[in-house]
Amino acid sequence: MALAKGAYSHSTRGAMATELLFRDDAYLRTATARVATAAAGIVELDRTIFYPLGGGQPGDVGWLVRESGERIPVADTRKGDVPDSVRHLLSPVAGLPDPGEPLTLEIDWPRRYALMRLHSALHVMSCVVVAPVTGGNISPDKARLDFDIDMSLLDAARIEGETNELIARGVATETVWITDEELDARPDLVKTMSVQPPRGAGRVRLLRIPGIDLQPCGGTHVANIAEIGGIRVLKIKSEGRRNRRVEIALR
Ligand SMILES: [Zn+2]
Repeated sequence: MALAKGAYSHSTRGAMATELLFRDDAYLRTATARVATAAAGIVELDRTIFYPLGGGQPGDVGWLVRESGERIPVADTRKGDVPDSVRHLLSPVAGLPDPGEPLTLEIDWPRRYALMRLHSALHVMSCVVVAPVTGGNISPDKARLDFDIDMSLLDAARIEGETNELIARGVATETVWITDEELDARPDLVKTMSVQPPRGAGRVRLLRIPGIDLQPCGGTHVANIAEIGGIRVLKIKSEGRRNRRVEIALR
């Protein structure tokens, strides 16, 4: 037992919670921060605008800009060992900043904004297809949800048309926080069977699209669903015995 505890504290040495600026403002393209730790191509900061891979949304890419003007490319962003810790993964050839060093953070905004629009589009589409969600993924050029549903109930033209009608309502999205207990009392909020929202931190973040959707989500979304612009259904296919995959792109 003592050995296990020791091993755990060793593996998390240096890991720290990072102030997650994207959680309150998904539109931050740049911010200043200070290096907390930097080793083996991994940088942790005191605060960040880089979203770490999670909930089907890829990690951000971008740059850490030193005071000298040197731009250190961030190839990917991942969650760390402790809650709210974020690891900025540098490309192998990049230089390493020093602990305590002040940096300017820049994310690849066109890529992130495409991810925000597609991610928000999946929330809307999940209300058009009424079935349990068994999986999902977002990339900068397309996104998909998997449903546990009979193939005969999925019609591409209907899904596209009804999703775009909802998007055209142009409602503002809202972030809502509830306690773990409140979420446990509302199991109907959790549509995704494969990804349960993280419990244990005491509170859970929800995305509300008034009149359309309310579900736990830690990702980045557009402020108004009108920004999605509209979607196209690329294809619908069977993925295994129970999964039916609906793939979309921005119109
Ligand atoms: Zn979301």
